[in-house]
Amino acid sequence: MEGKLHSGFHHKLLREWQCINTDINPANLIYPIFITDEENSLEPIKSLPGQYRIGTERLAEFLQPLINKGLRSVLLFGVPTKFEKDYGGSSATDPKSPVLVGIQKLRSLFPDLLILCDVCLCAYTDNGHCGILNEDGSLNSARSNHRLAEVAVAYAKAGCHVVAPSDMNDGRIGMIKQKLSENSLDTKVEEFSFCHSVTDEPDTTRVEKRGSQEMLIKQLQEIRLNEDLLLKI
Ligand SMILES: [Zn+2]
Repeated sequence: MEGKLHSGFHHKLLREWQCINTDINPANLIYPIFITDEENSLEPIKSLPGQYRIGTERLAEFLQPLINKGLRSVLLFGVPTKFEKDYGGSSATDPKSPVLVGIQKLRSLFPDLLILCDVCLCAYTDNGHCGILNEDGSLNSARSNHRLAEVAVAYAKAGCHVVAPSDMNDGRIGMIKQKLSENSLDTKVEEFSFCHSVTDEPDTTRVEKRGSQEMLIKQLQEIRLNEDLLLKI
C-alpha cells in the first residue's frame, strides 16, 4: 500500500501541489463547503463567521465568484437534516445524502474543480461520535474503520478526487486504502487526512474532539508515512 504514489498525481491541481516551490495564492487554498440537503439553503453558521450551510441548488451561484477569483478546490462537509441517524451512520452512503449529491453536482458544474470530501461518521451516527461504539460505549475500532472505508469508497465512486478522513480512528488509513484498491480506485483517488478544530456542534462534543485532536497531533509522526498529504486546519 505504501508504494501507491499515483493517487497523489491524478489531478492537474494535485500535480501542481506536489511542486517544491509553493506560494500563497487562491489555487493553493481549499475552500470548505458545509453542504446540506436543504437544497436552497444559504444559512449563516454562527460559530464560523462568513461561512454558510449551502444547499446543493445554491452551489453554482456561491462558488462561481470564488472560482472566477482563482479558487480551484473545495472540501465538502456533510450537514444532513432529513435523515435518521443510527449507530452505523447509514445515511452517509445514502445516494440522496448531501455529499453524494453535491459531488455529482460539482463535477458537472465545474469539471476542473478538485473535490475533497471529509470522511467521518459523526454527522450521521445517533451517538454523534466519529465511529461505531460497542454496547459499553467503547469504540469498536474494526467496525468503525470498515464503515469509514465504505463511506470513502462511496464518495470516490460518486466522483470525489480526494477522500479526507478527519475521524482519527487508529488504522482507518490502511483500511480506506485497502477498500479503494479493491474497487480499483487506488490510483484515481487521493487520501488526505486532517483534523478540524472549529465545530458548530454542542460543547460536550467539542471538548471530546479537542482531546482527540491533541491525540492525533501526537500520532502524526507514526501515521504520516502512510498518507498522501497531511493537513491541520
Ligand atoms: Zn467526526
